[in-house]
Amino acid sequence: MICDKVQNLLSPYLDGELAPRERAEVDAHLAACPECAGLAARMRAAVAAFAAFPDVDPSPALRRRLLAIPERSRRFRLDLDFLRRPVLQPFLAVAAGLLMLVSVYFASPGSFQRSINREFHRGIGSIEKIYVRAGSLTDRIGDLAVTAYDSAKAVNPIGRAENRY
Ligand SMILES: [Zn+2]
Repeated sequence: MICDKVQNLLSPYLDGELAPRERAEVDAHLAACPECAGLAARMRAAVAAFAAFPDVDPSPALRRRLLAIPERSRRFRLDLDFLRRPVLQPFLAVAAGLLMLVSVYFASPGSFQRSINREFHRGIGSIEKIYVRAGSLTDRIGDLAVTAYDSAKAVNPIGRAENRY
């Protein structure tokens, strides 16, 4: 028999609750294993010490007061079984995500605010860049038009282009 199994059987063994075959197996192991034999001896001593305690019989008054204590745990127990309904799972997932964001915010509001500001300004920054690029593009188109006009004027054989404008 393995020590673990014997040690689990020690309590019923000492109480005389084991079947004869199991009891014989435990006896055989205890004879061969000093560790389990030591544990059995300590448990036997503890049982004897407990048996030496006088029985305490609570007075009828104490008994009544103990029985009058309300079962708070039952009264305040919340029934959360409805949360397990499959229909609710996506909403619960979203709610969990929001809760995580909120908890991150409350954990460090300053850095959260800063990172939001950073993202916001990054967004504004790229929009500005697009505008600037578009602006330089129209400027370049304008330059190109002027250059084209100048070239057209320069090659205009009639030479009256400026008079038309
Ligand atoms: Zn053993």
